[in-house]
Amino acid sequence: MINIFQPTLGQDELDELSKVFESNWIGKGEYVDRFEKLFAINLRVNSENFISTTSCTEGIFLAADVFNFTPEDEIIVPSISFPSVASAVLSKGAKIVLCDVDKSTLNVSSEHIAKVITEKTKAVFVTHYGGIPCDMDPIIKLCYKNNIKVIEDSACSVQSFYKGKACGTIGDMGIWSFDAMKTICTGDGGMIYLKSLDNVNIAKELLYLGLPVKTKSGMDSSTRESNWWEFEINRPGRRSIMNNIAGAIGCVQMEKLPEFIKRRKQIFNKYYSAFKDIDWIDLPEEPSFNYESSYYFFWIQTKYRDQLAKHLLKHDIYTTFRYWPLHKIKLFNKKNIVCNDSEYAGNYTLNIPLHQSLNDEDVDKVINTIKSFKEKK
Ligand SMILES: *Cc1c(COP(=O)(O)O)cnc(C)c1O
Repeated sequence: MINIFQPTLGQDELDELSKVFESNWIGKGEYVDRFEKLFAINLRVNSENFISTTSCTEGIFLAADVFNFTPEDEIIVPSISFPSVASAVLSKGAKIVLCDVDKSTLNVSSEHIAKVITEKTKAVFVTHYGGIPCDMDPIIKLCYKNNIKVIEDSACSVQSFYKGKACGTIGDMGIWSFDAMKTICTGDGGMIYLKSLDNVNIAKELLYLGLPVKTKSGMDSSTRESNWWEFEINRPGRRSIMNNIAGAIGCVQMEKLPEFIKRRKQIFNKYYSAFKDIDWIDLPEEPSFNYESSYYFFWIQTKYRDQLAKHLLKHDIYTTFRYWPLHKIKLFNKKNIVCNDSEYAGNYTLNIPLHQSLNDEDVDKVINTIKSFKEKK
């Protein structure tokens, strides 16, 4: 079976892990610190603004705490978003306000957001679909004029830039994922960017038991202090910190990231040229602004989507659609709002295999199997 996504892990990661085991310090420590720094340097942003965590979903829920979503607030969520975005809003009793996306990029635009802003809007989530950035300048301008926080779900955008700025660091908060499906994988894991350093401190407390960040007292104090077992708690906190096992894998993956992106780009371009002249396939629209992609998804749109997915599966090629529109999920859409372009995307879009471990033969097989479907339809 040709997988649609797949982690690339091997001996280098195992070698680094054996050092962690030998050090006997498995919890959060130097490997996690190094991973955070490598991640920040790669995005050309100050590492003080980054905090690692256990998953991207944890970071999305943290956004609801840091920006204090309440039942009085409305939070704008594009219909093509990861489900935990809407769940995080609901978890605070805040109102999910769904909006549409562009059907040929699956990204939200400032026009979509402008249509649903009210005086109750507190925050907007944007997703850079498949690693291709949203057009952020107009979104930021619109939101800041209306005192609305911008949260970037950058789970697919580990190496994406919008006009030279890293996706995830343009608005007030960004979150990345290192789960088993993502470009770099730490088992499970996430990274958070917060623009305000005050929010960084609040977030660190929320992610680690509510222990004060700024003082040395508490559970990690030095044994030279007397009564080091005493501590203060600043706020109700969870325990959502990355450990050295994930951190060590992350450090090795960061070194390999440029090769991963290079390979993904080759495959992306090969697909693009193979499908661009096929009349029954529509391809993603290329943004007109300056950007760099992470090449996380390749997707096609066709009215034969369902039959094509089954045809590919019969030939041992797994495909899927991300992300099932939230307006189709009852829990998130009590009023049965329809978002037309998201509906279109949900009916006709197919994500096809794209990951750095595909070899040329795999890619040719995907292309030829899609082309051979044409004859049969
Ligand atoms: C994978 C993904 C997430 C969730 O990441 P986890 O680390 O699995 O919680 C969130 N948003 C998007 C866009 C994703 O692709």
